[in-house]
This record gives sequence, structure tokens and C-alpha cells, in this order.
Amino acid sequence: MSKAEFLNVSQATGAGRAVQSLVLETLDLMGAAVDVVELDVYDVLLPGDQFKRITFDPEIAQERDDCELVTYGTPFLESMVEVAKTRGRLQVRQIESRAEVPQNLEDKVANLVHFVKCKPPKVSRTWMEEGLLLLCQFVVTFQADEVVEELMTTLIDLQSLADLTHLHAALDHHWFTVGLESNGTMTGRDKLSTETANRDRADALADRLNPRPHPISTPFRLTDGVAWAVHALEPRIEKTIAHIQSQNNTQREDELAKSRHYYEATLKKLDKQWSATTDAEKKGRLKQKIEATKLDRDHRMEDISRAYEVTAEVRLDQAILYRVPVVCVQAQVQQRIQVYPYVFRYHPWASAWGPVTCPVCHEAAMYLERGTESWHCGCEQKRIGHETEMLPP
Ligand SMILES: [Zn+2]
Repeated sequence: MSKAEFLNVSQATGAGRAVQSLVLETLDLMGAAVDVVELDVYDVLLPGDQFKRITFDPEIAQERDDCELVTYGTPFLESMVEVAKTRGRLQVRQIESRAEVPQNLEDKVANLVHFVKCKPPKVSRTWMEEGLLLLCQFVVTFQADEVVEELMTTLIDLQSLADLTHLHAALDHHWFTVGLESNGTMTGRDKLSTETANRDRADALADRLNPRPHPISTPFRLTDGVAWAVHALEPRIEKTIAHIQSQNNTQREDELAKSRHYYEATLKKLDKQWSATTDAEKKGRLKQKIEATKLDRDHRMEDISRAYEVTAEVRLDQAILYRVPVVCVQAQVQQRIQVYPYVFRYHPWASAWGPVTCPVCHEAAMYLERGTESWHCGCEQKRIGHETEMLPP
């Protein structure tokens, strides 16, 4: 399989596999009985005798009406995520950190992204939010002549789907408290902090030090975060595959050359025998032998090439949801006579700005242009006529 082909497969199945392993392991933890009916079709008997026949493969779900598809956004997967949260598959950690707002905001945000055909952004207000970051730990199994397992981690901001993996190490510098509530559940202490945050917001510019974040819901679900984490992993997987392939390249070429040489010599010998004989029956037998040898050679060469192919399988091992303070900096961006807002995100716990992502396709963006309804990275033109796909399939 070529690299490009692998990426297609991985885009189609990588996220699906992560869902599959999460669901099957959660069912196991719940004590549900799971029977494999056929390839990718499972009969599930949940505690309380509720029965379901499920699949993770959209094609199978389309072919059979007795099968429920489990994928992003389905109630069954959401319910499994809820269960996983309480069974230790997903941990929630809250980070306490002083919220320092960087100085010279206007210069800083102007350097983060270029707004096409617009005046430089003008900062209009700042506030604190509680951000939700999803840390996914994957086990990636590379299958080549030997099997190599690698742990790969991705950190995704659930507000913007920005890839924050480069800030992962900074999380370890903070103390955290462990809890099970996720966003939206306000505890007594949170309510108190909201009041504090509101009061602080009133004179935010005068007193920027340590306002308390308040809980906020994110536009993306945990499962969207997992899908995006798998997507962010792809370049790293591709790199490892290229590395394994280059390591094995000499060996593969040697083996192919040896084989080629052997078959060339054999065929030469048979050809010689064929030319030397006048016996028609013997000539016929030799002809057959030559054909068989050629076929054998082709198979052998294919086998060697296949033995050096590298495939990768991604499995979500565990996930941690971090509740962190985030400083939101709203800027007004002027294009001709229109003014449009844009919100930048600063992560005080890492003293770093979140990478700017395209609000439409969520890829990291170096520049943004104004579309009909929102900012975009240039992807909006490409999408006209296509159904807008928010997340990788
Ligand atoms: Zn885009």
C-alpha cells in the first residue's frame, strides 16, 4: 500500500477504530455480553437485558436494516462516552492557574494571523473562560516485518478544535484536582467563581489579576475531539511509516534483486534446454515449465513487496479532559466599512496563544478572509457546491 493509499484508509478507519475500541472496552467494563455475529457486526446484551445489534462500518449499516451504526453523534456512542467517564476511561482534571493577560495585546494578536484585505485588529474586550482540552492517548500499532507499538498523544481545544499538542508538557507543571463533572455542571464552588468572574469582568482591564474562570459549554462534543485528535495524528503516523520504510528499503531491494537474479538464471537455463531439443513433446513440457516459472516469479516478487508494506492501526487508550482557564481576547477587524469580531484564545497556564484555526474547516490558519457568514482560511470557495463536512469522516 502506498503512503497516499494508507492515508485514505486511515482517514476512513482511524477515527472509526478509535470509536470501536472505546465502545467495546466500555461495554466490557459494564459487563455487557458482546457476540461477534460476523465481521464488524456485534450483538450486544446490555445489563438490564436490553439487546442491540451494532456495527461501526457505515457500509454494513446501509446494507442491513437490522444493524445500528455506532459513529460520531449517535445517541449510543454518546451514552458510551457518559459511561466511560464514570469508569475511569476518561478522567477529568481541573487546573488552577493565575490568569495573566499578556501586555501589548494589539501587537501580539496582529502577529497571530493575517486578516486578508482588512485593517489590523483592534482589541475591544477581554474575558476569562473555562476551556476544555481533551488529551487523547493512543496506542498506534505499526505492522511491518515486525510489529512496533508507539504511544502517541494529542491535545485538542474543544472550543476551536485547535491542536495544542505542543503545549502538553506545560500541563504537567500545574497542580490539578480530579473530578467527574464535565462542562455545564455547576457546583457550589463554580457558582461562587462565576460571581467573582462577573465582578472582575466589570473592571477587567484595571484588575486583570486572577479572575476566576466560569464554566462554558463547547460547540464540539468529546467524540468530535477524539475524531480531530486522530486527524491530528496522521502526519506523525505518516512520518513513522516513511521512517520504517526507509530503514527496510535496502533489505527489500536486496531481497528483490536476489529473487530476480534467481529467476533470470532459471529461465535462461530452461530457454537453453528448449532451444537445444528437437523433441516436440519435450519442447511442450519445457514451454509449460517456463510459463509456470514466470508466474511463480511474479508471485514471489509481489510477496516480497507486500512483506515490506507498513500498516498502522490506531486505538484510543485513555483520555483526560482538562478544565483550564483561558483568556479570550476579542478584536474588531475592519474591512472597508464593515467591522467583524474575532476572538483569540490565550492559555495562561502555558503562557502561550492558541493557534488560530479556520472556523469553517478547523485546520490551522496563517491567514483568514471574510466569507459570507464567518471567517475562513480560503476553504469556503472550494466547498461551494459540496455539502459542508465539519469533521473528518
Ligand atoms: Zn478552512
